[in-house]
Amino acid sequence: MPVPLLDLTRQYEPLREEFRQAIDRVCESQRFILGTEVEIFEREAAQALGVEHAVGVTSGTDALLEALMALGVGAGDEVVMPTFTFFATAGVVARLGARPVFVDIDPIDYCMDPKQLAERIGARTRAVIPVHLFGQAADMDAIMEAAGEVPVVEDCAQAWGADCGGRPVGSIGVMGAFSFFPSKNLGCFGDGGLITTADEDLDGSLRELRVHGQSGPYEHPAVGGNFRLDALQAAVLRVKLPHVKSWINDRRANADHYRRLFGHADLEGAVQLPKALPGRGHTFNQYVVRAARRDELREFLLERSIGAAVYYPLPLHLQSCFADLGHSEGDFPVAEQASREVLALPVFPELDASEQEEVVAAIVEFFAG
Ligand SMILES: *Cc1c(COP(=O)(O)O)cnc(C)c1O
Repeated sequence: MPVPLLDLTRQYEPLREEFRQAIDRVCESQRFILGTEVEIFEREAAQALGVEHAVGVTSGTDALLEALMALGVGAGDEVVMPTFTFFATAGVVARLGARPVFVDIDPIDYCMDPKQLAERIGARTRAVIPVHLFGQAADMDAIMEAAGEVPVVEDCAQAWGADCGGRPVGSIGVMGAFSFFPSKNLGCFGDGGLITTADEDLDGSLRELRVHGQSGPYEHPAVGGNFRLDALQAAVLRVKLPHVKSWINDRRANADHYRRLFGHADLEGAVQLPKALPGRGHTFNQYVVRAARRDELREFLLERSIGAAVYYPLPLHLQSCFADLGHSEGDFPVAEQASREVLALPVFPELDASEQEEVVAAIVEFFAG
């Protein structure tokens, strides 16, 4: 029986009629850009996340880009971030003419190492972007302390619903950037994103920047962009929003089940399971193990139609577009080792126990053979 890495149809089917009604509502209104649907979603999202303000935008990438624009990041500035993350975290910095400054990760939570962050803060540092990777909050107490006066923009793309010591991600730094890419904890029917903040002035700037920096009709005190969330996406997100908590609980239950199944399997340390650290609210957007002979194992699973993926095979300091930053292999050994060992297994909320048993049985078979 094939086991997909992600099957969105299982989430769609029970809500099909609600989605149709929501989409119909927008079609009947013929208001597609911002408007009531987006405003209501922003309020509902802010409440669900436990944040003051939420601004709907075009994608998680644009959420990061716009957050940095609101801070005035530009040429000559430095922005510190982990090297082990999705490309967008660094891409937005380079697009603004600023310099991504990479730090290594912690081997357990895969997030930015706060000690290295402290060493890389300098006179040119304009922002710090911790990434709550795979759905678990980074060590925000240590990161906020290391960042000091420098504004922290949380990359929450993978971590809707996670928290750090009871504080929701997206409410700890000066802003949080969320993505509604379909595979995230809360996904829309296309691209979408959200920026959160407790700062009223920033909220105002973000609302202007997402409409070309417009403060009033055809008045532009700043240069912004078109970062507007579609009303259709907001309507879809409003249908899903009441279910996200329970979907995250299902992800956690699946992670618990993997722990039991792997606990009974005799793998002699060939597979290391992810650790849900106390007080870090792991939401298991991805269930990432470390495995010996990772690439062979992945091939073996794919041959049996079991989904498995590598996030991420190359740390950002080794990407050719960042060659001019002068990094080489060995600069960030923890991230480099992770990129050779990590493997994401299916963990989506609707995955059933027998499918998980099949995944683990296949891994046992690989290491027995
Ligand atoms: C998905 C993701 C993004 C980008 O989000 P998009 O909506 O795809 O633009 C940024 N950072 C991280 C860590 C992500 O996983």
